[in-house]
Formats: sequence, structure tokens, C-alpha cells
Amino acid sequence: PDAKPAPSDPPSAPPQDALLARLRERLGARHVLTEATDLAPHLAEARGLYRGRALAVLRPADTAEVAFAVRACAEARVPVVAQGGNTGLVGGGVPQGGIVLSLARLSRIRAVDPVGATLTVEAGAVLADVQAAAEAAGMLFPLSLAAEGSCRIGGNLATNAGGTAVLAYGNARDLVLGLEVVLADGRVWNGLKGLRKNNAGYDLKHLFVGSEGTLGIITAAVLKLYPRPASRAVGFVGLPSPRAALALLERLRRAAGPDLTAFEVMPRFGLEIVLRHVPGAQRPLASGHDTYALVEFASPRPGADMAAELEAALAASLEAGLAEDATIGASEARNAALWRLRESLPEAQSREGGSIKHDVSVPLSRLPEFLERATAACLAEMPGLRPCAFGHFGDGNIHFNLSQPPSMDRAAFLAAWARFNRIVHDIVHDLDGSIAAEHGVGLIKRDELQHYGDPVGLDLMRRLKAALDPADILNPGKVVALSDDPPPAL
Ligand code: FAD
Repeated sequence: PDAKPAPSDPPSAPPQDALLARLRERLGARHVLTEATDLAPHLAEARGLYRGRALAVLRPADTAEVAFAVRACAEARVPVVAQGGNTGLVGGGVPQGGIVLSLARLSRIRAVDPVGATLTVEAGAVLADVQAAAEAAGMLFPLSLAAEGSCRIGGNLATNAGGTAVLAYGNARDLVLGLEVVLADGRVWNGLKGLRKNNAGYDLKHLFVGSEGTLGIITAAVLKLYPRPASRAVGFVGLPSPRAALALLERLRRAAGPDLTAFEVMPRFGLEIVLRHVPGAQRPLASGHDTYALVEFASPRPGADMAAELEAALAASLEAGLAEDATIGASEARNAALWRLRESLPEAQSREGGSIKHDVSVPLSRLPEFLERATAACLAEMPGLRPCAFGHFGDGNIHFNLSQPPSMDRAAFLAAWARFNRIVHDIVHDLDGSIAAEHGVGLIKRDELQHYGDPVGLDLMRRLKAALDPADILNPGKVVALSDDPPPAL
């Protein structure tokens, strides 16, 4: 018979209860969420591809509370998954057990230095608020992406986000001068220097940028600010092919140099579905074209007239037979409407049923070749599917998305994801490109990275992970796996 515990021998609580009690005591009970309804938004991810599970969601108020929480979790051997706005697109923020650590309450702007052109901000600040703080100081923080109203700067840095201003200003990595990071053992690394030159040993901040919460928890950052544009112009151009888009890009770069601040591309199918699904979207050009480019010129120089310069450059491109048609926004409202056509494409695509997505980059000169080869190979694999390749063409970065054939069952289509990965990523690899351009690796590309990554590079990544987080506490199983556990199925 089962032995009953003696009255003097109270049943011991599971270790996780002790951890939660410790966390409640320090963070306050209302910042340790355990109710299913409170957990739910933190377990789902933007595309609904994965569903996570977690013991609790923590909402620490400052760096010291983050450090306490990480140390407590490390001592209890409970994994910690950082979350900012939970807008990531690779399943990186999806917990597979353990604790979700939300940075949302660390949202203060700590300092603005207009002379040094820097802004010091906590990791949980929403990107749009960071942009607004820069604007209030008469400056520009250029990182910009469609999720900017909900993604948070710590998440942007943890994923080395790209977005629409990379051509002129670089990725998130290029916009950061210093970081404050809580390490896996709960120590705080204070690297919050706003220096433009600092060669005092290894540049540790770049280890954490793009590490997707696997090496440390970013709690604050010093960001670079820039002069605000004094003049901006946006054009929408109809083109016969991606090859013509590349030729237009080269021509505009020669004409405008650093004033060419964006060069985005979308296909005919992309514009058609935006016009079909997005309320208020208006056809920008009279007739249809194979390929469209959205181009932006911007300059901080007082007196610069970007509309005149863009008009001259596009007129010359039309005359040379490169472009088929073009329009320029006559007002800021019109510029914003042209940008909306491009930025609402993912939303329009989601209304067209299932889509299989590949966020890839190849050397710019090979982008047309990639598009031609990948489109042909995917159509040969599944006639009737609708390729929708769009994105940050000027950066060599394409979202090579495939919309399901209209007659096909959504689940059956999505079940072919791995097959299309192999087709598309083989071509990317052959062209010396990257299978993870701007969204990161997370869960969705972990095994693809293992397949295509340089073995020495992968070994270095694993050694770095093991050195910084030997107990595999921080976002385990993401990016590079230390254990042999397969990622959860889509
Ligand atoms: P989360 O989704 O919360 O987290 C992302 C990853 O970072 C996770 O692995 C998480 O564990 C980790 N993490 C979060 N915060 C921290 C922290 N403080 N310290 C350590 N690790 C942390 N991405 C682009 O690059 N370019 C785009 O143009 C773009 N457009 C998008 C458009 C839409 C509509 C959507 C939904 C997403 C888009 N994304 C884009 C993807 C996403 O917005 C970015 O990856 C963004 O940077 C994630 O920020 P987040 O705060 O939502 O991070």
C-alpha cells in the first residue's frame, strides 16, 4: 500500500511553485501572470503557425527585476523566453514551457543627447514611441517597419530588424552604439556607452544584436539619431520585369546617391490583391505592369527639392524605355498612400488563403536570376500556385511568398512548406545568398540553418551559446539547438 505522509511531514510543493512564490514576492503578484486568459496572447505568434505553453508571464518593472527573475529561473533550471511586442515572424518568442519574460514595462526613454545624436531607451519602448521621442528632439530614428506600432526596440535589436530604411541607414545593428544586457546567470552587463569609436576589446554588443534572446536579455540601448529629412518624395513606377527594376535601381542610385532612401518592389499579383482587399487602396497607375517599384528620395539638406530630383530621374528612366509608367506623390498624404500599398501587402496576402513564406537575400546583381529560377521551379512543383515575391529589393532582400492555388485546401497547401523550402533555399544557397535575411531564424528556420550553414560557423555559434548560457536557460531550442530535440511541427 502507498505510504501516507506523516502529519509532521507536509507534502512538498513542486519546485515551480517555489519559483513562482519567489517571483511574486519580488515583482508583485499582479506582475506574475498565470491565468490562461492572461497567458494566451503570449503563447500565440503573429502568423498562428505555432502555439506555445508557459508556466507564467513575468512583467518586471526595471533592469534589477529582470536580473532577479533570470537568476531565480536559472537557479530553478526553468527556461526564460524574452518577449517584446511578440510580432516576430519566425516563432522565436514562442515559449515551449518555462517563463515568458515580457519587457513591456521597461519602456522609459532614459536620455536624449542632441549633441552626441543619441537616445538611450529601455528595451520595452514601442518602436513608434522611440521614433516620436527622436522627432520631439528634432531628429530622426530611422528604423521603420510595418509592425512599428507594436514591436519594441529590444525585440528589434534582438532580431536585428531590417525594414524599409535599410538602404540609407542599415539594419538595427547599424543603429546601436551601446547595450545593457542581463546575462543567463542574472548578472548585468553595462555596455551603455554612446561612443562612435570604441575598440577596447571585442565588440560585445554585436553578440547580442540578432541573437533572438538566446544569449542575453537586452534591457536598454543607446541608439544613433540622424538629422530629419527636410524634403522627401515618393514615386511608384511600373516596370516590365525584375531585371528592369534592377536597372532602375542602379540609375537612381547614380542620380541620387545617399538621397535614394528606399527601393521596394512588388509584383502585379501583389498590387491586385492589395486593391482587392485593402479598404481605400487606389490604383496608382492607369494600367497594369509586371513589376512595380516604390522609390523614395529624402534629404536633410535645407532647400533640397526631392520631388524635382525624383521627377527628373524618373522622366529620364521613362525616356530610356526602362520604366513603363510612373507617378510621384504630390503631398505627404499621397506619399503615405503609396507607402500603404506596399506595407499592406502582407495583410492582403493573408486574405488570399494560405501562404508559404521565404525571407531570403541574394547578392543584388543576382536578384532577377533568383526570382526567375525560384518562380519557375515552384510553378513546376505546383501548377496553379501564385508567387508573390516582394520586399526590400534595394537591400537584395525578397519575401519570396507563395499564395495557395485558389482551389486547394489551405492545410494541404501549408503541408508542402518543407518541400518548397528545399526548392527555394537550394537556389538561394547556390546563389551565395542567405535563407534568413531580416526576420531571423527562431524555430521556423532552425533546421534550415543547420542544413545550409557553414559547419565551422555553426560550431562557433554553439560554443558561444554554451559559453554564455551553459545551462541552456535562455530561449532554448531557438536559432541553434544545443540538444537534439526537434522543433515543434508547424
Ligand atoms: P518579439 O516578437 O517579442 O521577439 C522576437 C525575438 O526576439 C524572440 O526570439 C524574443 O525572444 C527576442 N526578444 C524580444 N525582446 C528581447 C529582449 N529585450 N532581449 C532579448 N531578446 C528579446 N521584421 C523586419 O526585420 N523587417 C520588416 O520589415 C518587418 N515587418 C513586419 C511587418 C509585420 C506586419 C509584422 C507582424 C512583423 C514584421 N517584422 C519585420 C517582424 C518583427 O516585427 C520584427 O522581427 C521585430 O523586430 C520584432 O520585435 P518584437 O518586439 O515584436 O519582438
